[in-house]
Parts: sequence; structure tokens; C-alpha cells
Amino acid sequence: MASSRTVIIAGAGIGGLTAALAIARHGFGVTVFDQASRLEEIGAGIQLSPNASRILIALGLGKQLRRHVVAPQELRVMNARTARVLARAPLGAVAEKRYGAPYWVIHRGDLQAVLLDAVRAHPDIALHLGIRVEDFAFDEDGVTIAARSPQRRLEERGVALIAADGLWSNLRQRLGHRREPRFARRTAWRALAPADALMPELRAPAVNLWFGTRAHLVHYPVRSGSLINVVAIVGDDWREPGWSAAGERAEILARYRAPMWSAVPRAILAAPEHWQKWALYDRAPLAQWGKGPATLLGDAAHPMLPYLAQGAAMAIEDAAVLAQRLADARDHPAAAMRRYEQHRRARTARAQRAARRNGMVYQLGGAGAFLRTLALTAIGGERLLARYDWLYGWTPG
Ligand SMILES: Cc1cc2nc3c(=O)[nH]c(=O)nc-3n(C[C@H](O)[C@H](O)[C@H](O)COP(=O)(O)OP(=O)(O)OC[C@H]3O[C@@H](n4cnc5c(N)ncnc54)[C@H](O)[C@@H]3O)c2cc1C
Repeated sequence: MASSRTVIIAGAGIGGLTAALAIARHGFGVTVFDQASRLEEIGAGIQLSPNASRILIALGLGKQLRRHVVAPQELRVMNARTARVLARAPLGAVAEKRYGAPYWVIHRGDLQAVLLDAVRAHPDIALHLGIRVEDFAFDEDGVTIAARSPQRRLEERGVALIAADGLWSNLRQRLGHRREPRFARRTAWRALAPADALMPELRAPAVNLWFGTRAHLVHYPVRSGSLINVVAIVGDDWREPGWSAAGERAEILARYRAPMWSAVPRAILAAPEHWQKWALYDRAPLAQWGKGPATLLGDAAHPMLPYLAQGAAMAIEDAAVLAQRLADARDHPAAAMRRYEQHRRARTARAQRAARRNGMVYQLGGAGAFLRTLALTAIGGERLLARYDWLYGWTPG
């Protein structure tokens, strides 16, 4: 079925879809499988920092994305108890000038829909939903995957396999990485509040980060500003895998009690009716990712905690680098994979570690929280942004 130049991608998440578009641009055929029978509008906000937005724009998606994104003008860091602003880092035009691409926030469903429309419109990409890739074997000429739908089993052949099958990747296991994800003993609660139900300053185009003791809160507008994405992260032993368990508003409000949480953040938490939650997991960086013409991409390779807001961005970066390496070594996909991995390992490991570190800092209590306040107020906005130059200033090269 597949042509001699078909690359197979397992997983049509943010990473898999971006990789399909980036690889097809270089003249390869691409076949994408996703186990989900429909790619529904699941998830909430995702941050597209300049390192990611520049890639999506280069793929020709800027116009479509601009219909959905919000460009926050600043990052505001607040003390949950006093509501005092501890730091403001400029984003908007300042970040765009500094990094050469915009800082955007978007609903995950909108991002996936824009990618999906482009994939469906591309003559060299075939997307098959409701098919789970279960195994693969490779030889000198390429790779054969074994997949299954509720009705049938199938095999497909290609020149290379990209496992973009997310945090719980089974193909990662088939590549010999048997360790389970590491449970972070925290749960992220997410909800969308109608913007017009909130006071004007909470609707402003800004990323807001509230620091409390052993809990924090992030909110920013999505869907062109009509909805406010709210994410509340608390310590918890609940550890079920998955992205979308139902959560009770009363339960999350009880975790963000007065006086430790002042009226404004509590008003944000009280606004949405429906909540969903997911248990947080990550993994330690891998020394080696793939084998032969098979490799990992996105969360399957380097899942990270959400404290750096880089899960989607790192998957998008992976896609751009992998496509370029495949184009550079058209007839040698296995060599292209190793070069891609070599290019990505250190950077993604740095992001994983930085996310973990932020997680510790965000949830400090007592003296630690006091020191954090001192450091934040002393550092000031522009310098706070400059600390992320290594992250946001990155280009695919
Ligand atoms: C439904 C869903 C909701 C999410 N919601 C949020 C959110 O609200 N906030 C947030 O920060 N992050 C969320 N994420 C995670 C976020 O999208 C990723 O961290 C990030 O975008 C990296 O993307 P990825 O492509 O590597 O993995 P993902 O976006 O997780 O995509 C992996 C894809 O692989 C598919 N898949 C898995 N196994 C197989 C297989 N064996 N064969 C074929 N297909 C397979 C899955 O169905 C999924 O579509 C969500 C992920 C999913 C899948």
C-alpha cells in the first residue's frame, strides 16, 4: 500500500500532526494513524511560545492560527494571599521583537483543528483514525507496522516510523524503554470560564500565575478572548492515567480556601461550572531514543511537567528538526533519525529538568515562598523574560 517514500506516524496529537505537515513539505508521503476514532475538542489552553509559533508560521499556518489565538501582553506573577503583583514580564510586541516570532496562547482543540485541516487538505498525507499501532519490525529496506482497529488487524510498510503516541506510548516500550512514567503526586484541574462572567482585569490579554502554598493557579484567555482557560495545580495522590477525568467544583474550591487564597483568584475558580482533571506524570530524560528507522517524538520521547508550558512546543520543535534531518538524508532514514535524536536530546532534557525545577519553586511554602518573593521582586520583568532566552530564542537551525 505504502510508497517507497512513505513515513509512518503513530499518533495524531500536536506533535504527530505537525510532523506530518513538516515531512510532507519535503516530498515524502506520510501516513498517520491515531487510536482515537475522532479527534475531539479535548483539552484546554496551550501556550505557543515563539520557539513553537515560528515553526507553525513557517508551515504556512499563521493566518489560520491568528483566528483563534490570543497574544498575551505580559506574564503577571501574583501572591495568592495578598493578591500583590510580584513581577510582570513583558510579552506581546516586546517578546515578538526579542525572539522574532509571537508569543501566543490557544485552546488545544483549536490548534489541533488547524493542524488537522492542513493535514486533510494535503495530497501526500493519509490520516487514519480508530487505528492503534501496536508493534513494528524493521529491516534494511524500511519498517513494517502492525496495527489494529476494532474490526481488523492491518500491516503497513514505510521507510521510517515516528512514534508520536504521547505520554503513555506503547511504542516507546517496543523500543526497549520499559520504565513507567513517574507520578508527580499532583493533579492539574482545568476549566474554561466565559470571559464576560469575569471582571475586566481578569479578561485582559495576559498570562496570570498565582503562587500559593503547595498550590498554584494559572489563567489566560483563549478562543480569541471569549473564554478564560483556568488551570489549578494541587498536591494529590490520585494517579489515574488520562487527560479528562471529571472534577467537582466544590472540591477544587475547598483546596483554594481563604485566607490563603484571596478573593480574586477564588472568584476565577468559582466561575467555571465544569472541571476536568489529570494526574501529572513525567519521565527522566532518555540517553537513547530510537532504533533503526524508528524514533520517538513529543511526549513519547520526553514528557514534561506543565510548569514550563513547553509540552506542545517541544513536540513542535521535534517535528521541524526531524523533517529537516529526513530531507538532508533522504535515502538514509536511520541515519537521519540518529541525527535528529542527537540534535534534540540535550535541549528536551534541559526543558524537562527546568519544568521540574519550576514545579518545586511554584509550590514552595514558608521561608521558601518568602525567598521566592524576594527574588522575583528583585529580578524585574525584562530580566525575568531574559532568563528564558535559551528557550524562546531557539530556531530549528
Ligand atoms: C486528549 C488530550 C488532551 C490533552 N489536554 C491537555 C491539556 O489540557 N493541557 C496540556 O497541557 N496538555 C494536554 N494534553 C497533552 C499535550 O497535548 C501534549 O503534552 C503535547 O501537546 C505533546 O503532544 P504529543 O503529540 O507528543 O502527544 P499527545 O498530544 O498526547 O498526542 C498523542 C496522540 O497519540 C495517540 N496514540 C496514543 N497511542 C497510540 C497508538 N499506539 N497508536 C496510534 N495512536 C496513538 C493519542 O490518541 C493522541 O492523539 C492533552 C493530550 C491529549 C491526547
